[in-house]
Amino acid sequence: MIISTGTASGKSLAYLTPAVASCLDGGTVLYLTPTKALAADQLRGIRDLRITQVRAACFDGDTPFEERTWVRKNANYVLTNPDMLHRGILPRHAQWSAFFRRLRLVVIDECHGYRGVFGSHVAQILRRLRRVCARYGAQPTFLLASATASEPGTFAKRLTGLEMAEVTTDASPKGSTTVALWEPPLTELRGEGGAPVRRTATAEAADLLADLVLADVRTLAFVRSRRGAETVALAARAKLADVAFSLSHQFGTTRTVPTGPALPAAPGRPGTVETAPATGAGPGTDEPLTDQPRADRPGPGSPASDRVGSGLGLSGRPGAGQPPSEVGGPAGPQADDAQAWALPEVSDLPEKVAAYRAGYLAEDRRLLEKALRSGTLMGLATTNALELGVDVSGLDAVLIAGWPGTRASLWQQAGRAGRDGQDALAVLIARDDPLDTYLVHHPDALFGRPVEAIVLDPDNPYVLGPHLCAAAAEIPLSEDDLPIFGNTAATVLDTLVTDGLLRRRPAGWFWTKRERATDLADIRGGGGAPIQVVESSTGRLLGSVDEPSAHTMVHTGAVYIHQGETFLVELLDLEAGVALVSSAQPDYSTFARDITDISLLSTLRSHALGPGTLNFGEVEVTRQVVSYLKRRLQSGEMLGDEPLDLPPRTLRTRAVWWTLPASEVAALAEEGFDLGGAAHAAEHAAIGLLPLFATCDRWDIGGVSTELHADTGLLTVFVYDGHEGGAGFAERGYARATDWLTATREAIASCECERGCPSCIQSPKCGNGNEPLDKRGALRLLATLLTP
Ligand SMILES: [Zn+2]
Ligand SMILES: [Zn+2]
Repeated sequence: MIISTGTASGKSLAYLTPAVASCLDGGTVLYLTPTKALAADQLRGIRDLRITQVRAACFDGDTPFEERTWVRKNANYVLTNPDMLHRGILPRHAQWSAFFRRLRLVVIDECHGYRGVFGSHVAQILRRLRRVCARYGAQPTFLLASATASEPGTFAKRLTGLEMAEVTTDASPKGSTTVALWEPPLTELRGEGGAPVRRTATAEAADLLADLVLADVRTLAFVRSRRGAETVALAARAKLADVAFSLSHQFGTTRTVPTGPALPAAPGRPGTVETAPATGAGPGTDEPLTDQPRADRPGPGSPASDRVGSGLGLSGRPGAGQPPSEVGGPAGPQADDAQAWALPEVSDLPEKVAAYRAGYLAEDRRLLEKALRSGTLMGLATTNALELGVDVSGLDAVLIAGWPGTRASLWQQAGRAGRDGQDALAVLIARDDPLDTYLVHHPDALFGRPVEAIVLDPDNPYVLGPHLCAAAAEIPLSEDDLPIFGNTAATVLDTLVTDGLLRRRPAGWFWTKRERATDLADIRGGGGAPIQVVESSTGRLLGSVDEPSAHTMVHTGAVYIHQGETFLVELLDLEAGVALVSSAQPDYSTFARDITDISLLSTLRSHALGPGTLNFGEVEVTRQVVSYLKRRLQSGEMLGDEPLDLPPRTLRTRAVWWTLPASEVAALAEEGFDLGGAAHAAEHAAIGLLPLFATCDRWDIGGVSTELHADTGLLTVFVYDGHEGGAGFAERGYARATDWLTATREAIASCECERGCPSCIQSPKCGNGNEPLDKRGALRLLATLLTP
């Protein structure tokens, strides 16, 4: 069964109840979660129940060796992660025989994290688990818990290989949430090809955070990197310090500031932020809170263009750029009828904002929770790391700097606001990216429609192969085992025998090598010999990156973010398989740019799309990372394009592509459009929008566009899965092509720039320096393709 409901809807209780019952009944329970931190939190929760018959323990990389035997022999509730199940538990199943024999329930928590290539690996690990259980005569129930997802039963079946019942009704009490979609303005800064640069989401988040804290609204800001979170916290504190300074000069140490009658009502009580009409905007509220240049804003017709002061009903607060005379006297007759606004101790204002660092000890996290609850802390900027391990239920508002990738994550983050069923505020701040642009202009894409499906492809032969080896090493494989591993298992087994990895004997397939079969599968990477990321000063191994991703993520000069921490890559040595990095605080981010060539191997499916054709099939991609782009962190300003010398890589994967017949192309050319530029622009935007339909990141996919492709002989635009063998993303694009390309066209049309910018058709990873691009041509091309 899969339970797929929102944050704080009581999912834990739904699996804890049968889990505890299983233990009381003499059975055992296996609990799986993507991270060690979440397992540790769950363990604490179970121990707090104080049921002596439940002997719960974590079994992961952090479990001391001397404790492991105890866990295997005595624990009846084992909490672990897929990595440990893959490497530590399944290969030594004999030592766990007593546990497996009594296994009643397998809980798979936060299972929406198992998507793409990682999800495909986990799917195979779960098939191995089912086979091992069967060996010991156990047939456990699989109970999955997920954030809201579309078609959760289908996903759960792909993940476990079992028929699944779904529970999707959330009956928990909740207040309403006002959601603001926020588009930062274009600035006077100029980027590639003279394109305008939008104000960054982090700069806007800092302004909003300061404003909300001033209004006594407890706020959490989600920022992508820890460095970004720290920047937001610092900028918000600086703003609050300014306010504190101007207030202390006006009022001395007065704590309560009455608002004059000329000003609109003070903001509502915490938890009841309303969207007030813009008419109440006090003088000075249009003042930018930073000295960054700003381009002219569109007129008042565009709701997203209103500043916080007017848009959120928080205008008229003292300070923040208002001339002192507008605030009203410190005490006067009007104070009686005006709403009093209790300000915090003015000098403490900056102290009310902090950045959350992952890796806090449990005690520190409890302190932080307490400070948030008591109001000593009013604003917290954090990465998603906070999703695991801190209970921050007492919040009024959530700021989300940049689209978090999926509607599921958006609602999960927004769900952090709203304490005790009270109303709440959530603000999504757009980054300069086509998907963000599309979403802030199309609220209908966020509201009232199901969240996206979680996509994975367990049949990917590059994923399946290593797990068949691992399964054979656990218990030799027989013909009877094949159905559990899917339709492609037989073919993949033949290849493994040919490659000398498995031996075929009358009794089945055997692993006869001395090495550990589990080393073949790099479950968090994408296959291939991984590159080790090592801190040069200490020799500390930070992690590994699969070889294909290494070219884009840890090339020499790259800014590499690991668990929210920022590093600079000093050297990528492909031969030694090492990237040397050092801790750094550069004020820019980097984007690897590649040039791509693609050839068609086979067409698996195709159908007509308008006057053109839509296809899905296998391709060979040759990619070469040629340079990297540096962009200033705070402003988004382009700092330069540095060349790189890396070898080309080939990738066999799956792609979706569309073609347009020569007659249509000729007609468009006659209208004066640059067809190459139009196809290129459509490709960039389509890559940006696919994550709306498949749960992938724009970096998981790539594209090629050409006016005339050698294999098709036509104008062709390809979008391919960036992982060996494919990950299911292009397949999803094929299935949802009309919606996907319609959204692509609308994203381009929504952007107010004239000839293209990073918010619509420019791509930070374009190896051709975003040349040529034809914005109007792309709109025409997509319109032609979408003609019914
Ligand atoms: Zn634009
Ligand atoms: Zn490009």
